[in-house]
Amino acid sequence: MSSIESVTVTLIPGDGIGPEVVHATRRVIEAAGVPVKWEECEAGAEVFRKGLRSGVPAETIDSISRTGVALKGPLETPVGYGEKSANVTLRKLFETYGNLRPVREMPNVPTPFAGRGIDLVVVRENVEDLYAGIEHRQTPGVAQCLKLMSRKGCERIARLAFEVARAEGRSSVHCATKANIMKLTEGLLKRTFEEVATDYPGIEAHHIIVDNCAHQLARRPEQFEVIVTSNMNGDILSDLTSGLVGGLGFAPSANVGTGVAIFEAVHGSAPKYAGKNTINPTAMLLSGVMMLRYLGRNEEAVAIEQALFVTLEQGLATRDVVGDERAVSTTGFTDAIIANLGRRAAQASRETTPLTVPAVCDGPVNVTTTRRRVVGFDVFVESALPPAAIAATLNAAANGRPVRLKMISNRGTQVWPATGGATDTVDHWRCRFVARDEDAHVTDGEITSFLDLIGGDLRWMHVEKLQEFDGEPGWTMAQGEH
Ligand code: NAP
Repeated sequence: MSSIESVTVTLIPGDGIGPEVVHATRRVIEAAGVPVKWEECEAGAEVFRKGLRSGVPAETIDSISRTGVALKGPLETPVGYGEKSANVTLRKLFETYGNLRPVREMPNVPTPFAGRGIDLVVVRENVEDLYAGIEHRQTPGVAQCLKLMSRKGCERIARLAFEVARAEGRSSVHCATKANIMKLTEGLLKRTFEEVATDYPGIEAHHIIVDNCAHQLARRPEQFEVIVTSNMNGDILSDLTSGLVGGLGFAPSANVGTGVAIFEAVHGSAPKYAGKNTINPTAMLLSGVMMLRYLGRNEEAVAIEQALFVTLEQGLATRDVVGDERAVSTTGFTDAIIANLGRRAAQASRETTPLTVPAVCDGPVNVTTTRRRVVGFDVFVESALPPAAIAATLNAAANGRPVRLKMISNRGTQVWPATGGATDTVDHWRCRFVARDEDAHVTDGEITSFLDLIGGDLRWMHVEKLQEFDGEPGWTMAQGEH
């Protein structure tokens, strides 16, 4: 056994099936002899019902700030308007920038891929991208969600992926992006990954387009060891990878940041199974195993993992694996794991290693450039007029000014000047203005006075500067724009 020094962990039972899987995990960890002081805290549905719109009370935040480690059950997210996800709130409040989602083949769990030795980890960026949750309804019928990705965010997630690969003795890391379409956001992750890779010469670095990654995962998943990807892509890919090894009942995760880590199953609160004592506690238990690896209790982590494998090798499994007829209950499965502590599984498996999180800079990392120039601006307007009529109004407004209308696009496709295409339109137009003198700098005063000028005729709701950084354009072209 490792040291007898006790650790304090914030325990959030969560919603739906949460209390059952968290209780099972707690029992196994205690039975393995880890001296844990649990600080039980609330978050999620019950808290929303009490009227706290964040779903996370101050006492819970205080507890995690103090302990630095939380074991968390799934939290229900109200769908639609109003409340934010309490899960996302926790991840963002504690800047747990990396989400590690390992999956591996389990003994006796039948899947179409059984026998191929799947053993991979998805390293999902956890706080940026579309999950920054910055959304606006810009016209009555058009809404936008900002996809924000930073150089710092990309660097630390890429580094985390290589560190995980190195710590686990893995030979390759794939970076899955949609850089072919979103060149500035997803492209930033690709470029940063390629730079960070040079610090890890012993590990192969591959870039893969995310849709092909999904295809390859369904065809030949055993080729992947570590996949690093942005938040939204990682959310989807990691549910896919859990499906490869038997479903969400087997998919654990760790949300890691600097000095804080929150361990939880990938699955949600599965409300239809709440209180039925039928669900699979493995995903939560393996999240507990990751927590022990993080806390330096590797010996107990290995013991629990082995006891789980032995239990599966004995043919014991919950309903999701073997169906209602042959299933053992959640508590029955947990009892069997506890009874098997100290036994070694027949199936050899990769040795469990401590989980270390690389030190990353906590302060702001501001990327600077030596030359910056505003060469124009995009103004987004709402109008029921056809594009030619909008262009006529804007051209009249720009007459005699230092900027000219270059093009108008609708949901990203140029519609003025006409392209010959048959693009459908909605009442939301991006109108691109550029300096008449190609070497000129467009001033803030020019932009704001221009907005004042057109405000009466067209309803503008958003403006973006077109900036060049060290001579590189910091914007993308519309489809069909020359
Ligand atoms: P879910 O709760 O993950 O359940 C989807 C399905 O996955 C279940 O119906 C069940 O499949 C299977 N499943 C999940 N956990 C299982 C387990 N431990 N054992 C066996 N099977 C399991 O997803 P959801 O229904 O989309 O979401 C429900 C709520 O959870 C939502 O409010 C959502 O926002 C929230 N959520 C929270 C988290 C989190 O806290 N991190 C994550 C995801 C979702 P079958 O129906 O095929 O049996």
